Amino acid sequence: MAPSHAADDAGNVKVVVRVRGFVKRERERGAKCLVRMDPGTQTTTLLAPNDFDPDTGRSSTRRAYEDKEFTFDKSFWSHDEADPHYAHQEDVYRSFGEEFLDHNFDGYHTCIFAYGQTGSGKSYTMMGTPEQPGLIPRTCEELFERIQQDPSPNTNYHVHVSYFEVYNEHVRDLLVPRITPPMYLKIRESQTDGVYVQGLTEAEVKSYADVERLMKMGDQTRTTASTKMNDTSSRSHAVFTIQLKQIQHSLLSDETIERCARMRLVDLAGSERAKSTEATGQRLKEGGQINKSLTTLGRVIAALADPRRAPGKGHRRIKDVVPYRDSVLTWLLKDSLGGNSKTAMVACISPSDYDETLSTLRYADQAKRIRTRASVNQDCLSSAQRDAQILEMAEQIRSLQVSVNAASLRKREEATELEDYQKQVAKMQRLMVETRQVSECKIRALTNEVEELRPVNAALRGEIEALRRHLALALGELKNPIIIPPPRDMEGSEFGDEKDAVEKGREGDEKENVVLDDGDLTDEEDSGYDDDDLAKELHAQANEFLKDLGLFRRKVGDDYSRFGPREALSEVYIN
Ligand code: ADP
Ligand code: MG
Repeated sequence: MAPSHAADDAGNVKVVVRVRGFVKRERERGAKCLVRMDPGTQTTTLLAPNDFDPDTGRSSTRRAYEDKEFTFDKSFWSHDEADPHYAHQEDVYRSFGEEFLDHNFDGYHTCIFAYGQTGSGKSYTMMGTPEQPGLIPRTCEELFERIQQDPSPNTNYHVHVSYFEVYNEHVRDLLVPRITPPMYLKIRESQTDGVYVQGLTEAEVKSYADVERLMKMGDQTRTTASTKMNDTSSRSHAVFTIQLKQIQHSLLSDETIERCARMRLVDLAGSERAKSTEATGQRLKEGGQINKSLTTLGRVIAALADPRRAPGKGHRRIKDVVPYRDSVLTWLLKDSLGGNSKTAMVACISPSDYDETLSTLRYADQAKRIRTRASVNQDCLSSAQRDAQILEMAEQIRSLQVSVNAASLRKREEATELEDYQKQVAKMQRLMVETRQVSECKIRALTNEVEELRPVNAALRGEIEALRRHLALALGELKNPIIIPPPRDMEGSEFGDEKDAVEKGREGDEKENVVLDDGDLTDEEDSGYDDDDLAKELHAQANEFLKDLGLFRRKVGDDYSRFGPREALSEVYIN
């Protein structure tokens, strides 16, 4: 999907820091909290440990420690729940998780990664516990809440999730059951999809319950691995990805607007391991490039944060040396770190480990300087273009089928061509599902419109019917004019004639004037009126009719001369 550069949004990586409370082991050794946070200024101060040895009366270490102060976008104090500025999981989510979800709905890619030493609270912040869910479950839950609350019937949502871990420079799908020997996935790059993990499960999810099930499954796969393989979880990076696609269909233009957003939520490996790896080279000698990804991440951050990268300062030359490709993780997160993404880093710190905390805070301080340029990932397609896309894909699949067949004959490169073929087929299936949903959406919208018009139509029919009866009445009056009975002293043969005429007129009315009420002109005996009353009433009625008729005729005549027969009719209907 083409990023729309008109909506480019450049900004710095958002960096927040969070300090956790003491864990049992720290409480048992009577550890002191070396971190102070000021909720007003968002500063985090790391206090020098008191290393005074009472036996010797001197400092127990040669090193002189100092207090260090840093300012971040946010400093979350999660050390002591009794403090008024204590930051709960909900506070962390509300302060930027929610904002990042807004960006996703606007069509921006986002990335949140947690950095820190083992046991500093990364998994707690990202995943949390069932009672205290972290950023990932909260984001997913609200994502589906928003989708369900969307009142627009013309938008379709598609959500896919994937969950993988990078351990020892190998990528493993966490959404498939663990097998021995483990199956590792390859990283590939294509012009249309950028860098991607080949064959990674991208599960479609329809509700938060679906996501929860997959998260649990992934975490279990990870835990099993960690117990079997000497705590790999603290040495592996877990990447949870949510893809949100919104397809909005306009009935007026028959176009679809597609917005794609990808959120990456990354729980990094413990940072202290990277340092020991670097320092001793022990792990490297053992043949496991245990944390090449984390050390490379450090180099990538340093390169991206280099002030020489600022626009206009030899930018291009510096850009070339960002070592993304040196590790699997940085290669996969290239866009999230220095490209089309809004990115945040949560630096998690332990409260009583001066060295590790200082190293994390320095790392975080450097990350503040990284700038990314996020764009809205949006495409506008006419229905003809959608159809063309499907046709083109069908053509590609056909030609891939031919090469797969040829390759299997040659028994060479079979696997890659087959993978390409499968990938393309899966893509096409997705596209067809989306197109079907757009059509369903159209049908739904049209059905709604028909339903909305039904009562209007019924009302119009009623009015036309009334108009028809009115005209019939007027016509009846024209054909059989009502003759007004003479006054009482003129009673005699003339009156008799007139009365006959009235009777005659009434007969005509009954034939032609559907609306004429029978009760109005029944026999004199039945009515109980005397002749005088009847005459007066008939007189008044006749006058009314004639007045109405005159008005009506004039109106019809006027309109006819002005607009022709159609408008005249409508004018009568409106009046
Ligand atoms: P990491 O993933 O960085 O190795 P964890 O998230 O597993 O660390 O945290 C280590 C321990 O500290 C866990 O028992 C976790 O429940 C606890 N913990 C971490 N952060 C917090 C916090 N903010 N509030 C309460 N407990 C926390
Ligand atoms: Mg963890």
